[in-house]
Amino acid sequence: MTEIPKNHPRYESLMTREQIVAGVEKGITGRQGLIAQGRGEAFDYLIGEETIQSAEYAEAVAVSLLLLAEKPVISVNGNAAALVPAELAALSKLTGAVLEVNLFHRTDERVKKIVEELKANGADVVLGENAEPLLPLEHERAKVERKGIYEADVIFVPLEDGDRCQALTGMNKLVIAVDLNPLSRTAQAAHVSIVDNLKRALPKMIEMVPDFKDMTKEDLWEIVEAYDNKAVLTDAIETIKENLAKKQNEILGIVEEDNAPAPDPKTTAKMERKAEIARKVLMRGGDLMME
Ligand code: ATP
Repeated sequence: MTEIPKNHPRYESLMTREQIVAGVEKGITGRQGLIAQGRGEAFDYLIGEETIQSAEYAEAVAVSLLLLAEKPVISVNGNAAALVPAELAALSKLTGAVLEVNLFHRTDERVKKIVEELKANGADVVLGENAEPLLPLEHERAKVERKGIYEADVIFVPLEDGDRCQALTGMNKLVIAVDLNPLSRTAQAAHVSIVDNLKRALPKMIEMVPDFKDMTKEDLWEIVEAYDNKAVLTDAIETIKENLAKKQNEILGIVEEDNAPAPDPKTTAKMERKAEIARKVLMRGGDLMME
């Protein structure tokens, strides 16, 4: 890996590039993954390289859905395996969701390498090596495991292509996607679209699990039922518009009045009691819908 000084203003983003390049060198990430990373980076820049409030709300709903599911599966591609292998293994253990390697440019060799990478990072069981063409897509992209994605009721796909995302929703599965581009077909097709960087989203979701784990099914359902994905996507697009307008004003030397409301302590404080969590998550969603 190239040495990147910690005080470099683009440290995080450059380190992420290094991780993807290392993934390609190890044979776990396809070369096309470099381009996908570039597109993600561009959108992260526009979002402000931070987890926006609506994304954190979507992450809470995603955790609720994974805990409610009977057969949850986490689908892993080459970029996710390069960026967050330990986090994927941890989220799988914490929620009981099964890991399945699912590649757009599939080769048996790459599937095997990703299975090994996930196991080296703490995963016990990883599906994907016995995939069959079960999705309504052309041959290689149709391949999933029968006892994994094919039978799953909730699928968490950190990074997916639009066609497969649509194929999964068409099979009556609940799909949670992570995609920094709120305009992508994946983000538009998923039931829960987390517009955040995988490297921020996974640790946040892991941190949320203990708070949600002891909640009743009724409370979790309440959170899920109140969710509106359109509000979340609209909020991400609005954030991009605001950031662009801010930059435009900066270039033109227009001084903006700071009308931004002070951060809401409800959303920044660590969620404490279970009933309180349900209320706060719902309120966060409610705020979003009102906006
Ligand atoms: P679609 O087929 O859904 O319209 P696409 O063709 O734009 O999507 P792909 O090239 O299949 O997308 O995959 C890249 C997608 O992954 C981009 O939308 C990009 O924003 C997103 N992405 C890349 N890296 C990350 C990351 N680290 N975190 C979150 N999203 C990412």
